[in-house]
Amino acid sequence: MLKFIFLLLFSGVVNANSCVVLLYHHFANDTPKSTSISPELFEKHLQYLQQNSFKVLPLSTMLNRLKSATLPDKCVVLTADDAYISIAKNAYPLLKKYQMSMAVFVPTDAVEKQYKRYMSWQQMQKIQGENMEFYNHSLSHPHLLDLDSGQVLDEIKNAQKRLRKHLKVTAKILA
Ligand SMILES: [Zn+2]
Repeated sequence: MLKFIFLLLFSGVVNANSCVVLLYHHFANDTPKSTSISPELFEKHLQYLQQNSFKVLPLSTMLNRLKSATLPDKCVVLTADDAYISIAKNAYPLLKKYQMSMAVFVPTDAVEKQYKRYMSWQQMQKIQGENMEFYNHSLSHPHLLDLDSGQVLDEIKNAQKRLRKHLKVTAKILA
């Protein structure tokens, strides 16, 4: 079934100047099933992308190229929400192996509070680079529609400040 969905996703990628963005969370076997992929299956995804000549672009590159309308055919971007520790442990080595890039969206409060399942700032600094970008996923990961506009701005601006301080992130990209 999963394979079917995966293939279905890509069967529509024929138009020039479009891109499929894949979203992951955990890369582990001991995390909630609904938001997890095993490292073995994730590697199969990367193999599939490589063997079928998909162009896996860093999110920043894709967004820049989107402005000038020069996205390649079979364009794919890999992303992960929530900055879980399994990204550093299990996804990063595979991204290096296949020379692909992933954008990770960081809810900064969880990092500051050193929650066990999240990466630390130091861990993110270590893997930040051509295989790994980090962006804004708000401060406390609330349901933003429940907040007033001032609270939403606080959530986004403060998270951005922390990303700039710890990871020197300047791009304003939010998920
Ligand atoms: Zn999230």
